[in-house]
Amino acid sequence: MDSKKVNEIINKLSKAEHDYYVLNKPTMSDAEYDKLYNELKKIEESNPDLILSYSPTQRVTGTPSNAFQQVEHRQRMYSLDNAENINDIKKWLERLEKITDEALFPIVIEPKIDGLAISLIYEDSLFVQGLTRGDGFIGEDVTHNVKTIKNIPLKLNKDIKGIVEIRGEVFMPIESFNELNKVNEKENIPTFINSRNAAAGSLRQKDSNVTSTRDLRLLSYQLINHEELDLSLDYSKQLKNLETYGFQVNKSYKVSEIDEISKILEEIEGMRDKFSYQIDGAVLKIDSATSQDQLGFTSKAPRWAIAYKFAAEEQVTVLKDIKLQTGRTGAITPVAVLDPVSVGGAMVSFATLHNPDEIQRKDLRINDYVIIRRAGDVIPEVVSPVIDRRDGTEKKWNLPIKCPCNKYEIEFIKDEKVPRCKGKSKCNLAKKEGMIFFGSRAGLEIDGLGKETIETLIENKLIENVEDIYDLNYEELISLPQWEEKKTTNLLNAISNSVKTEPEKLLTAIGIRHIGKRTAQQLIQNFGSIRGVLDASKDKIETIHGISESVVTSLNEWKSDADNLKTMEALEKHGFKLDKKSSTSTGKLNGKTFVITGTLENYSRQDLVNLIESSGGIVTTSVSKNTDILIAGEKAGSKLAKAEKLNVKIMKEDEALNYINK
Ligand SMILES: [Zn+2]
Repeated sequence: MDSKKVNEIINKLSKAEHDYYVLNKPTMSDAEYDKLYNELKKIEESNPDLILSYSPTQRVTGTPSNAFQQVEHRQRMYSLDNAENINDIKKWLERLEKITDEALFPIVIEPKIDGLAISLIYEDSLFVQGLTRGDGFIGEDVTHNVKTIKNIPLKLNKDIKGIVEIRGEVFMPIESFNELNKVNEKENIPTFINSRNAAAGSLRQKDSNVTSTRDLRLLSYQLINHEELDLSLDYSKQLKNLETYGFQVNKSYKVSEIDEISKILEEIEGMRDKFSYQIDGAVLKIDSATSQDQLGFTSKAPRWAIAYKFAAEEQVTVLKDIKLQTGRTGAITPVAVLDPVSVGGAMVSFATLHNPDEIQRKDLRINDYVIIRRAGDVIPEVVSPVIDRRDGTEKKWNLPIKCPCNKYEIEFIKDEKVPRCKGKSKCNLAKKEGMIFFGSRAGLEIDGLGKETIETLIENKLIENVEDIYDLNYEELISLPQWEEKKTTNLLNAISNSVKTEPEKLLTAIGIRHIGKRTAQQLIQNFGSIRGVLDASKDKIETIHGISESVVTSLNEWKSDADNLKTMEALEKHGFKLDKKSSTSTGKLNGKTFVITGTLENYSRQDLVNLIESSGGIVTTSVSKNTDILIAGEKAGSKLAKAEKLNVKIMKEDEALNYINK
């Protein structure tokens, strides 16, 4: 076997990849490709010296040791200044006119892909390195993952000596993104918010085997020839060359006057949903290399380019229904069920309506046409009904009397806008959500105990309350449909391991309203253990700096529910140590209690509190004999007097800072 034959096969395969992924014109059937690929693989296996770096078999390389290493860019990767409307663009051109006499037109406009900027280094035509943008100066080495992107040539279609740098945007086509999320949802893996996040997540995989299963693509837009720096090319010429080298480039428009700019921008915005990838605006670049050179850069961005950003995208669709959702704390929120519609590159079928009040306020009726908006990456919201499109079939919505659990009524508490299920911890839906939360990442992170598993276990009457999770046994689980041995033992192991958790994690996981991760940490820091928190008096809890009244109230309410105490007892029987001290809060101020009074000079009060807490200290609001240190700023009053009386150590601000930082 000789290298000529190997090269021949590689060329055939590379051409097929290029035809398929870059030109979108397949010239080889999948079966043909696979056959040839396997043939090549076989040859390479028996002749390792014939493995060439640009062989398609080398696209997947596992996790090499240089993965994610920080590497300095040869030339800074700038970001772009933004324009929000045509006026901003006019002002931009006016600014440029003052700097240069060179022609600003033609200007090249292209859709702005919502992806990730990447730099590719080729040495003597061979791909050698791929770097993320990073902070623009230093990026991360993602060579192993970039190689898996099939429309990136491992070898340029042209022989070029020395170093060539290609820049472009890596993205995931919208269709592939939706597909990936569907699979993730099915397998109970967190879904990605948008295709940009999916692309970023895929590119940051340790193992290139994973990345190779994700459909990533590159559109390139810049060519930097480091060896021949005098060779500066007009932008449109760069794009042509990139195509010749084997890259896919974005659709671009060349305009010769300002009126054309608005026309093209409108055109691009109008086609927004027609692109196979998510776009969030358009990029305008001065075409002439001479003009670019004269204009140069500001400290942040090239002067010769600007990004025009579309406004947050809105869509109109039908509000098919309004359903209620009961959360783990019994809160009931209305959810809009929509005719699925693509908004900003993602399919939207549901939108939050926050509370019943909002439905009245916006006068939303079932069957209304409604405006849906996604601002940035947040959950879509219903902006308003389109009153003009009403035809009399719309129905007003009223809050049902009962919670969707169908057992208890819905009640409003005092001034709260969000109603609750009267059943509280007895509501089946709240219980279910509570169990899902308990096992989730925010809770005890029990692997394999996701939403779907919890639902299966409830349906099969294996669990009803959180503590039942610890009674599950092998026979019960293995008899469930599609549960094999590995899945069963893994889950049982994860469950039994979870009892060793840190106390603040357990305190968060049991899902007391208003007690999230940070509050749980504060409480454990103050009272030592879960038992300490549960035994602490209302007055004591109230004195902790940053603990709100609502936390105190909800904790008290939770404690007064016998079912909750029963759960804690049961968890203890199953091996949880309620007296366990936290091992994560071992700062040098561990257990020391501070009170801050008076006006501080160098710190805001909250910053000082954060500083103390991050070292394991506790800040309370009133002085008692348990106070270790009083930090007295200017104009300290009664607290200072009380501290003096109780013989509490008093420190001025400077002194305290020295003490904390020492
Ligand atoms: Zn209920």
